[in-house]
Amino acid sequence: TLGGQNLSRSESGIGFDDIGGQEVAKRELLEALDFVCDVNRTKALGIRPLKGILLTGPPGTGKTLLAKAASSYTDSVFVAASGSEFIEMYAGVGAQRVRQLFTKARQLAARAGKQSAIIFVDEIEVIAGQRGSHSSHLEYDQTLNQLLVEMDGLKPNEAVKILVIAATNRADLLDPAILRPGRFDRQVKVDLPDREGRLHILKIHAKDKPLADEVSLEEIAKDTFGFSGAHLESLVNEAAILAFRKERTAIGMEEFRESIDKVMMGEKLERRPQP
Ligand code: ATP
Repeated sequence: TLGGQNLSRSESGIGFDDIGGQEVAKRELLEALDFVCDVNRTKALGIRPLKGILLTGPPGTGKTLLAKAASSYTDSVFVAASGSEFIEMYAGVGAQRVRQLFTKARQLAARAGKQSAIIFVDEIEVIAGQRGSHSSHLEYDQTLNQLLVEMDGLKPNEAVKILVIAATNRADLLDPAILRPGRFDRQVKVDLPDREGRLHILKIHAKDKPLADEVSLEEIAKDTFGFSGAHLESLVNEAAILAFRKERTAIGMEEFRESIDKVMMGEKLERRPQP
């Protein structure tokens, strides 16, 4: 098996229970992971091993959390990098960093006595945009080529099995080469949460906080259309800060209301075009 299924959160501290909403994404990811875990049966059926999963969707919707939960579930070490980290002024550095990332994943797994590693690459579009479309395209191309070389070279019978999970909020920019069979051939969409998802996320983040009796998380979920998980996390935190400032011992509906406005305002400011 990839590492024995396991719901422990030893490695990243994050389990699927810590992720609110995203029922479809969770189910699809779990299906892919079960498939990766059961190497013997997939081999017996002649199924091509799964090497890469691509998570797509808006910022702050839980893509990083899903990748971390995947590492707990498969009892893998978790190694993360961001697309922009690979890009340097000097030619060849990006490709070298990709090689180092795979080496590091294998070493960490071996050291931790694990049979598998998950390599998470956030902002994959930085290195996997359409080839030849950047100004300094050579460096980007070499980095992407190296990632594809590493993935093409992954073998199911290695001592440390590697699964690459990549994330992007610009799936439209991706070079189709990365979606070819044997590369990121599973795609999981992670959308903004619906009302039920928002309620679930609010419950997760309010779990260890004192709420006044009047607080209705249902109502807050209703009034936060368009909020991501990251927005909701920040909303609950802001409400707690307001309660602290007002020297309250529990967070009231008023604090939640003010925080909704604050998070919305912050969003507007962020979205203002840069001069
Ligand atoms: P980005 O595209 O910006 O990298 P992301 O999709 O990877 O974002 P995360 O880093 O997973 O988003 O989420 C950021 C934070 O927002 C999390 O640490 C968590 O506090 C909160 N969060 C986001 N989505 C959820 C969710 N579905 N359930 C619970 N918390 C969430």
